[in-house]
Amino acid sequence: MYLKRIELRGFKSFADKTIVEFKQGVTCIVGPNGSGKSNITDAIRWVLGEQRVKTLRGSKMEDVIFGGTKHRKPLGMAEVKLIFDNRESFFPLDYEEVEIVRRVFRSGDSEYSVNGMACRLKDIRELLMDTGIGREGYSIIGQGKIDEILSGGRDERRLLFEEAAGILKYKVRKVEASKKLANTHDNLSRIEDIIVEIE
Ligand code: ATP
Repeated sequence: MYLKRIELRGFKSFADKTIVEFKQGVTCIVGPNGSGKSNITDAIRWVLGEQRVKTLRGSKMEDVIFGGTKHRKPLGMAEVKLIFDNRESFFPLDYEEVEIVRRVFRSGDSEYSVNGMACRLKDIRELLMDTGIGREGYSIIGQGKIDEILSGGRDERRLLFEEAAGILKYKVRKVEASKKLANTHDNLSRIEDIIVEIE
């Protein structure tokens, strides 16, 4: 998997459209304290489906929208695009490039799209599940994460291996299917009660 480019507009400190190109090999982002280095990784996490505002270092989702400065008004929308090279079919999509976009408005509305097609957060999560770059993926190792993994319990470590092994997607689907099954059982017993009453 290769992240070629990230485009930010209105996201945190990036009020104007900002493009960060990642060339092959290792890329380092350097800059003074408070210049927005971590905001770039926040942006990546955000597009990959992060919903926990604390992980995004805010107190509400609106905090990801440029909040204004002394000389500039706040903006009404944040947009981030991640552009992946898909020539090796990392994503099961028939495109050489995959562009995942997330937008949020001050009204609270959100929009997601993959290669220009509007979709739901759930679709993006499914696309990323088991790729290792999803919300719970191990591709972004934040400060303190290594310690957390090493000192975490067996269950948390197991989750990490499950995602790497590609079985997390099936576990999530199993939970969804079990819920549907339980609902269907409930409906059936209600119908049986009604039949008994009618008889
Ligand atoms: P350090 O090296 O200290 O970790 P950094 O380069 O990683 O710093 P960030 O934490 O990415 O910096 O950026 C912090 C800056 O982003 C702060 O100046 C903060 O005011 C600004 N910022 C965060 N959210 C917003 C927002 N919603 N609107 C405008 N600016 C924001």
